[in-house]
Parts: sequence; C-alpha cells; structure tokens
Amino acid sequence: MSNYRTENPTTGEVERTFDDLDRDGAIAAVDRAQAAHEQWREIPAEQRADVLRRTADLYDERSEELARTIAVEMGKPLKQAKGEVQLAGSIYRWYADHGPQMLQEEQLDPQGALRSMVQMEPVGVLLGVMPWNYPYYQVARFAAPNLMIGNTVLLKHAGICAASNALIEEILLQAGLPDGGFVNLLAPSRIIPDVIADPRVQGVSLTGSEAAGASVAEAAGKNLTKSVLELGGSDAMLVLDAADVEAMARTAAKARLSNSGQACNSPKRIFVADEIHDDFLAALTRNVEKTVVGDPLDEATQMGPMSSTQARDDLHEQVQDAVSKGATVHTGGAPQDGPGAFYAPTVLTGITPDMRAWDEELFGPVVMVYRMTDVSAALEQANASTYGLSGSVWSDDPEKAAEVANRLDVGMAYVNEHGTTLPGLPFGGVKRSGYGRELASDGMHEFVNRKLVRVA
Ligand code: NDP
Repeated sequence: MSNYRTENPTTGEVERTFDDLDRDGAIAAVDRAQAAHEQWREIPAEQRADVLRRTADLYDERSEELARTIAVEMGKPLKQAKGEVQLAGSIYRWYADHGPQMLQEEQLDPQGALRSMVQMEPVGVLLGVMPWNYPYYQVARFAAPNLMIGNTVLLKHAGICAASNALIEEILLQAGLPDGGFVNLLAPSRIIPDVIADPRVQGVSLTGSEAAGASVAEAAGKNLTKSVLELGGSDAMLVLDAADVEAMARTAAKARLSNSGQACNSPKRIFVADEIHDDFLAALTRNVEKTVVGDPLDEATQMGPMSSTQARDDLHEQVQDAVSKGATVHTGGAPQDGPGAFYAPTVLTGITPDMRAWDEELFGPVVMVYRMTDVSAALEQANASTYGLSGSVWSDDPEKAAEVANRLDVGMAYVNEHGTTLPGLPFGGVKRSGYGRELASDGMHEFVNRKLVRVA
C-alpha cells in the first residue's frame, strides 16, 4: 500500500492515493532542487521576497480550499484550519517584509583600510520532514526563512499530508519560485537516509516524534549534515491564582483541546493552586464536556477526530494504564462510538509516577490536573519531565508569575498565555524536545553560511 494517501479520519475512508517515490526518484528530486538552488541564489533578495509575498497573497485567496484539504486529511475543524492557513500566510509575508534586511551583511569594527564583514549566504538544498498536526504552519516555519535566504527545500510531509503538500508546492510555483525550489517529496521514511546521504543536501529539519528525530539525526550525524529537531513536549501550565476561575478554566480547556490536543506545545499538565483547585476542576470539566465534537467540515464543530485510529488507540492505552493504576476520570476516558478516530475529551486527576501518563506525552484531547500546594514542588515536577518545550505561569500578578516562569526549564516560557506563535518569535525546546530554533533571526541563522570576509 502506498505510504502517501488521504485517509479521512472522520469517516475512515481512503479518499486518494499517491505514488511513492523510490530511491532513484528521490535522488532525481535532489537533482532538481540543486539546479533550482543555483538559479534561486542568484536572484536578488528583494525579488525572492516578492515570491514569498505572492505566496502569502495566494494563501489568503485560496484559504477555503487549503482549509478544507486539511479538514479532510487530518480532521482539523474548518475554523481552526482557516486560522492555520492565515498564520502560515503571515509567516511568508513576515519573511518577505523583514528578510532582505535580515540578510544584510554585518560590518565588524572597520579599522583603517582593513574591512571585516559577515555575509549571509545560502547553504544549498535542505530537507524538511514535517508532521500532520499543522500541515501548513509547520512547513511555513521551515520553508519561508530558508527560501528567503536562497536555499531550496525538499519537503517530506507525513504520509497523510500528500494533498496539502501538493497544494503548498503548487502555490509556491504559482508565486514564481523556480521549478525544484520546493519539492513535494513523496519518499517513504526508509528512503530518507539515502536523501540525507546525498552530499548536495546541506541540512535537515524534522518536526515529529522522538523516534523519527533520532533516526533522522543518526543519518545526519553519519554524514556530518547539520540538523534541527522539534520534537514532543509535555508542557506544564501553573495557575497560581485567578480572580475569575471560570474564565481561567475556559481558557485552559480551549488551549488543551485545540487541534484535538495534538500539539507539541499544548498545556498537557495543569497545576492549580490548592485554594482554587476544586472550583477550577469543576469548571474545567464543565467546559470540556460542552465542547462540540463532530465533523470538521461543520462550522459549528469545535473539536474533530484525532488524526488516525492508530493515534486514538495509542492515546487510549495511555489513559487505560492510568485508570488501571488509580487515576480518576472526570469526563471522557474512551473512544467515541461510530466511525472515525474520535476520542471523547477527557479530564484526569490522580496521576502518579507509576503511570505512563506521568512522563509520556499524551498527544490527544486529555487534560491532566494536579493540585499545587507548593509552587517550588510543582516547578520541580514540571521540570522533571524529559521534555522542555514550553510552559506557562498564570496569575493576576504578572510580575510574580514571571519570576516563577523564569524557573521553568524550557525553550519558551509564557506568562498569562500559552504557546503563542508569531512569525517573529523564535520556536524550539531543550532536552528531549529537540535542538535548534525555527523562526525569527535564530531560525534564520540555522541553515545559513555566516561567511567572514576580510578585505585588506
Ligand atoms: P512521526 O514522528 O512518526 O511523523 C512525523 C514525520 O516524521 C512524518 O513526516 C513521518 O513520515 C516522518 N517519519 C517518521 N519516522 C521517520 C523516520 N524513521 N525517518 C524519517 N522520517 C520519519 O509522528 P507520528 O505521526 O507517528 O506521531 C507519533 C508521536 O509523535 C505523537 O504521538 C507525538 O508524540 C509526536 N509528534 C510530535 C509532533 C510535534 O509537533 N512535535 C507532531 C507529530 C507527532 P510518515 O508519516 O511517512 O511516517
């Protein structure tokens, strides 16, 4: 069976299949990307920016079609899908607007007649390996800065995202990118080490699971190829106090259930101050229960299915493990009857260290709530995670919350918000959440030759 197929998680039907590339086909794609790089790097930065700007316009113009494609492909409700299309478009636009300036050469203390400068040069062909949870946003985060620099991109998307990736390729070419500048690489995972071993491939960036990250990093290491990894997370959200507990609980439920809970930086573990814990838990449970679960193509739907029945079954095993060892289910806790990969939005308490849920990532609509009697102890537990992607601290006193947030062992710490992503903010984690950064100047510097030039 083909690795690349649109398998609708709402119905379980396979709607479309694509032909997988073999090794020769994948290497032919590298040929095209290399030829495109030689052309693309010579185009002035302002003209490359124009291509990104046209791409952003096309995302706006084709928003409905783009959103429907992922609603069918991976089950994102239309409203959230349109939000993602808008965010992805804004990333292309941000690099169009700021990229040329960011690529200006830096002058280093000119002394007399001797001049030293750092120039920003592209490195060449890059491979992106991207997941299904934000099919457009994850790709934009990697492709926009790198195309701006003058690199070209081979994009191996998730098996279920061939259709959305074909649209991304089509839009970039329509916007004026040369053929081969962005390639929808329909190569199964087993061929990826061959692509990384091709000496023309200068870097690889993966967003996904630890297992996939380790496999790609191993191939990259063997070939001395630079890699960036954005892996999972088990983000903590510490609620120190809240004048409006109901509003706080509503915000938490929305943040955790967005995208059916399938986000690396979703607040998976919520620690709530003892004084408000019981009211918060009751309000959270009410809000989770009233979430409208259904067909992603229905505008009223707030939460769709998970991306696949396999993902749903994996999540249920983690929940059952917790329940069998004494966790309490306040709502949900089981797959929903009928076709599709639906899992009832769930609230759990009583998670203990002997349960898988204590330190594994729960990549679905399950909120875990812990009673916080001591902030330092909660921080210690939050930081004991093998992950270190992001975390947040909430309080009516933002300065007090910021002091606590500074003690989170993460790549991104927030106060009174969680997981905000903007094109100009760096994104990435520490520990087993990966290494390297995407977006902002940090992301822009990952796959660039910051070349020192001295003129005597
Ligand atoms: P994967 O990591 O398997 O998939 C992500 C991408 O990696 C896909 O394009 C996939 O391709 C590719 N991939 C998988 N294995 C390899 C490999 N050995 N070599 C090269 N590429 C590979 O994620 P899953 O869909 O299986 O989800 C499993 C878990 O991963 C989740 O439960 C969650 O914990 C984590 N995850 C984290 C994400 C994040 O945003 N950080 C996003 C998605 C998942 P293909 O689809 O063809 O297998």
